[in-house]
Amino acid sequence: MTYIIIDLEWNGAYARRTRGYFNEIIEIGAVKMDDSLQLVDSFHAVIRPVVSRKLSSIVQDLTGIEEEELEDGMPFSRAVSQLRKWITDPEAVIMTWSTTDLIVMLENCRYFLREEHIPFMNRYADLQAYFQNRMGTGSAQQISLGKACEMLEISDQELDLHRALDDSILSGKIFAKIYEAKSFEHQTFYADSEFYRRLTFKVSVVNDISSEHVKISDLRFSCEDCNRMLNRIGEWRFRNRAFCADFLCRGCNRKYTARVQIKLKYSGAETNRTLIPHAEEIAEKESKADDL
Ligand SMILES: [Zn+2]
Repeated sequence: MTYIIIDLEWNGAYARRTRGYFNEIIEIGAVKMDDSLQLVDSFHAVIRPVVSRKLSSIVQDLTGIEEEELEDGMPFSRAVSQLRKWITDPEAVIMTWSTTDLIVMLENCRYFLREEHIPFMNRYADLQAYFQNRMGTGSAQQISLGKACEMLEISDQELDLHRALDDSILSGKIFAKIYEAKSFEHQTFYADSEFYRRLTFKVSVVNDISSEHVKISDLRFSCEDCNRMLNRIGEWRFRNRAFCADFLCRGCNRKYTARVQIKLKYSGAETNRTLIPHAEEIAEKESKADDL
């Protein structure tokens, strides 16, 4: 088995051709690891940007890459074909730290190669997701490469964080420390059409209260104090990416604002409900309690 870990640096630019924001890859770094998780080879390519020659100051500050350095770079298409030759093994598992790099790679393949798939990839694993899974950190918050190194006590002192090759070397060290055959198999996917549908799926928020994704039970709340069903005393409004409405408990006179957010994910609709008691109601209640 061959494991390939890829890291990218890119520059945000406005692309006239697609009339939109585009993350143009300017550097590819990769490491190759064998069955025994030894780092056996590395790959590095600097790419001369064509969508925008001007590097954003954020990218310059973060990576330390200079515009002059990119002038000597190669076209993206050549970098990809060199990378493909370097990978050699068509069954190699390609990894990136979070799918962000993978999505950017796909966007660049679409833009420059007019390919709908990443030409050098048949199998993929998200190393960040695998790390979080192995460390039991949950998936709510994404953990940065630097933080992961810290957690595993991997020194990044002699390496340049945010340069593609050094970041891929660090990722390789992380992989070697956390790898376990069975759990890794569950994290590895074939890059078929379903994989790409999932990868490029855009999560959206339901903004129409009459949508089929809004269930009646999503819009019903009961009092936190007396458990009685609350009465809605205002219209549902869509605000801050969620439906909001005021409610009243006829039992204890308590007022609430309910917030319901319904996200459409690839796996289906996900509903988040919160009930916020009104402050003055609490104050009133507390002062009543004081009187007693
Ligand atoms: Zn009540």
